[in-house]
Amino acid sequence: MNPFDLKGKVALVTGGNGGIGLGIAKGLAGAGADVAIAGRNAAKNAAAVKALGGRAIGIAADVNDPAQVKRMVADTVSAFGGLDILVANAGINIRKPPQDYTVDEWRQVIDTNLNSVFACCQAAYPEMKRRGGGKIVTIGSMTSIFGLALGSAYASTKGAVVQLTKSLAIAWAKDNIQVNSILPGWIDTDLTRGARQQIPGLNERILQGTPAGRWGEPADLAGTAVFFCGRGSDFVTGTALPVDGGYSSSIF
Ligand code: NDP
Repeated sequence: MNPFDLKGKVALVTGGNGGIGLGIAKGLAGAGADVAIAGRNAAKNAAAVKALGGRAIGIAADVNDPAQVKRMVADTVSAFGGLDILVANAGINIRKPPQDYTVDEWRQVIDTNLNSVFACCQAAYPEMKRRGGGKIVTIGSMTSIFGLALGSAYASTKGAVVQLTKSLAIAWAKDNIQVNSILPGWIDTDLTRGARQQIPGLNERILQGTPAGRWGEPADLAGTAVFFCGRGSDFVTGTALPVDGGYSSSIF
């Protein structure tokens, strides 16, 4: 048995229309899964479905709306007959010093990066239970470990996502649902392109602080995601694995 074979499995990737989500979706599709990607931007969804080829669908959904989250899961089930894998990846950042956040900005980040992750997992649970098991992958960050002066809301959510991951993992272990988190290092996406524009010297600091000596690419997350979504990880749950070119292991 190939522990990385996802043939016959149905995956839903939130924020799968670009960046890390698309990198992961390509990995899952390459391993044989049917993949639904969800995002708010229908044009980006369509382009991602084209890039995925094969059996992929796009679902226009805002993960901050619980009704749309339920519909997103229902649409996946009606397209592919079930749901085995959820990658709760959609996320945002609002960069500013803590003292400058408005209440709405703070809430927007907490809603998108934490509350929506819980809503997606909760919506996926009955379908996975019905299938006799499932795999959930959440996306943390280096800020699950370190603080971020210009991203206190973001870091708060990414720390919490790891604790949510552990809690879901132990609650749903008896249902044969494994829940694990990937902690990406610095990955070249729209999110970090914005950061590089906003924070002078960031590019050089990341290159210096990453022993691998480069930024990560979305494709760098695919292998770990396939492992967490395949039967090779059936006895692995509640973990948080850095995929960071050594960033979190290095003091310099
Ligand atoms: P991008 O900005 O490239 O992609 C974000 C994705 O999330 C898009 O597909 C976007 O689609 C979707 N999204 C955002 N808000 C919503 C929403 N309300 N409803 C549905 N979809 C939404 O970011 P990354 O790929 O870099 O980030 C993906 C995840 O990885 C995030 O959780 C981020 O925190 C995390 N991460 C990123 C790192 C990096 O270095 N890039 C490092 C560590 C973690 P649309 O706009 O169409 O809704």
